[in-house]
Amino acid sequence: RSVNLVHLIEAICVQFEPIFSANQVRMGIEVPLRLPPVWADPDRLDQILINLLSNAYRYTPAGGEVVLRAWATTDKMTVEVADSGVGIAAEHLPHVFERFYRVDKSRARQSGGSGIGLAIVRHLVDAQGGDISVWSAGKGQGTVFTFTLPLAPESQNKSS
Ligand code: ATP
Ligand code: MG
Repeated sequence: RSVNLVHLIEAICVQFEPIFSANQVRMGIEVPLRLPPVWADPDRLDQILINLLSNAYRYTPAGGEVVLRAWATTDKMTVEVADSGVGIAAEHLPHVFERFYRVDKSRARQSGGSGIGLAIVRHLVDAQGGDISVWSAGKGQGTVFTFTLPLAPESQNKSS
């Protein structure tokens, strides 16, 4: 259905901001005041953002920053979660969406995940007709996850 991303992002940031700030990580939102609605399932969208923000939280040490961005072009919406954390080495980048894949098994075990989050995220993005990609300049260089969503029918073929 038709979803207003601005409201959804605001609600999630209200949830996460105290968690980040307790860890001395700054949270930024760079979203235009007005965005065309997307065609998506709001519960899935919540799950996608919660997973990406939980990762950003887990892999960004104190003093760092996490920024959520969204922008629309004529044919789609792009949403980005960028952190200044531990980064991902080039050889691991193609694999992070695989089930149970974790970059650093020992450190990862301490920080207690199972490596399933991003596989779910990719599935949820796919199921809504979008794409997801990841970029990091390397270890210690932060990480950027970018996904797309289709615009709602009423916002297509309008300049935005
Ligand atoms: P789970 O999400 O199941 O609790 P997880 O966070 O380890 O566990 P994924 O979310 O699937 O699993 O992520 C897979 C791996 O990708 C992580 O173990 C980590 O090595 C790497 N990764 C994911 N997000 C980031 C990030 N923001 N910065 C650095 N590395 C990341
Ligand atoms: Mg995770």
